[in-house]
Amino acid sequence: MKYSVNEACIGCGLCADTCPEIFFMNDEGKAEAMDEDVREDLLDSAAEAQDNCPAEAIAEA
Ligand code: SF4
Repeated sequence: MKYSVNEACIGCGLCADTCPEIFFMNDEGKAEAMDEDVREDLLDSAAEAQDNCPAEAIAEA
């Protein structure tokens, strides 16, 4: 399972703080998700990042 970040991202950085293995901030200050399946041991923190995104900009891809 992968995640993606859509254009609703407001660049708060919370997801990258919560699960930096999957989410990172790009040069434009918006979040992106790694284009790779989420490792088993990262599922909880990736889901937490999705749940806590204030813009609801993170979706399962
Ligand atoms: S938590 Fe949501 S709004 Fe904040 S940087 Fe991540 S995707 Fe963007």
